[in-house]
Amino acid sequence: MQSQSETSVRLRFAPSPTGYPHLGNIRTALFNWLFARHHGGTFILRIEDTDVARKVEGAVDIILDSLRWLGLDWDEGPYFQSQRLLVYRETAQRLLDEDHAYLCYCSPERLEVMRQEQMKRKEPPKYDRRCRDLTQQQRTQLKATGITPVIRFKTPLEGETTFYDLIHDRMTFKHDTLDDFVLLKSDGYPTYHLANIVDDHLMAISHVLRAEEWLSSTPRHVLLYRALHWQAPQFAHLPMILGSDRAKLSKRHGATNISEYQQQGYLPDAMINFLALLGWSVDDRTELLSREELIKHFSLERVGKTPAIFNKEKLEWMNGVYLRRLSLGQFVDHAMPFLDRDLAKSVRRPLDENYVGRVLSLIQERAKTLGEVPQLASFFFLDELPYDTSLLSKGKLDAKSATKAMTIASQKLEEVLTWDATTLECILRSVATELNLSTGELFGLLRVAVTGRTAAPPLFQTMAVLGKDQCLKRFKMILQLLPACLN
Ligand code: GLU
Repeated sequence: MQSQSETSVRLRFAPSPTGYPHLGNIRTALFNWLFARHHGGTFILRIEDTDVARKVEGAVDIILDSLRWLGLDWDEGPYFQSQRLLVYRETAQRLLDEDHAYLCYCSPERLEVMRQEQMKRKEPPKYDRRCRDLTQQQRTQLKATGITPVIRFKTPLEGETTFYDLIHDRMTFKHDTLDDFVLLKSDGYPTYHLANIVDDHLMAISHVLRAEEWLSSTPRHVLLYRALHWQAPQFAHLPMILGSDRAKLSKRHGATNISEYQQQGYLPDAMINFLALLGWSVDDRTELLSREELIKHFSLERVGKTPAIFNKEKLEWMNGVYLRRLSLGQFVDHAMPFLDRDLAKSVRRPLDENYVGRVLSLIQERAKTLGEVPQLASFFFLDELPYDTSLLSKGKLDAKSATKAMTIASQKLEEVLTWDATTLECILRSVATELNLSTGELFGLLRVAVTGRTAAPPLFQTMAVLGKDQCLKRFKMILQLLPACLN
């Protein structure tokens, strides 16, 4: 595979702006990027925007933003195919001149009727080649009608095309399964097939790494390269990505658009690590790999043929690992925009960075995404907690014992001068002993009072961060609510 010198290793990511980039698209970008970086080659970005009807406004910006967010930097481009129409037209003309292509005047209506009939007969839809062998006279007549023709490729009628795929090995396609596909549409825009091979040639692409769905297009491309006497790049078709139920990845398996993961607070490094393992592995065990390690080890030999399975829980776990690896300062920097965005409006902004740091030191361990942080931390910021009184009545203590415990605890805490976790723990343990309560009973009650929840970071550290005034205020509030929860 490495007969070419490393400097001629040129890869491209060639998205069509017909929608927002999804996980599969980005996995393709990543594998191209990793391959280029591994070989010290060049990574090119090319926007394949020749399908005017399917173009989605804003998609290009989102593609660029997503690549930047993930740190998938490109060395050339973005090139836009819509700005290169002349090159494709010239190539189509050359194919016409050299008798590898022909003008087709068939109307969209005729093609549609033909398609319907073929479907009825359960045949694969295929152009019937009516315009392939027109006489000179027929051509002149059709030209005189003023219809703008399309240019179609003259696929050989017999035989087969074989090429070598770096993942799937030898692939052979019979020509009678390929039709005379369109190269240039009547609007003057090239089709994907034409623009793609012209650019891969002119941009001196050495390796085409793309999704498996394009495998059936490749024999067409190989035929085009041959007709033009151009050397084809090497091909590698990447395995599909399926959901855990082995169905095609879709919304119900979780977000599919990459920008949703950014909004939910996944870290780029975790995303890169996770996506790299969708169809590739360094060995059969290693899950956590830094960007540098991925670049170092990436090879097509270890890309699988079988579909990769997307596992949302694994992504969450991995993101949690990456979040915990951040220094507290980095975690605060990453989480701050999420707190700003999602904490209740009633919380005063700007948030106090020092306080946020203390809060987040308790949250960092527990968050799987940055998007969860505001919810996990909200009770630290709200002045009045929305108590769910059922949590109190569900507690192990009846209202009378709970009231007594809260009253004693409040009195003891009023007197505390050094409000830190160790002191608080010491005092509250002695309250439990004094009242003959288990620590579980007392601390469970206090946790609900302080946080409004049954699951939260460690109680005494939480109370230390919240501060004396806020804790006592919450105790008072609970004392008012308790009589209503008589059980
Ligand atoms: N524009 C195609 C896409 O959207 C590119 C396929 C290829 O890489 O050849 O995936």
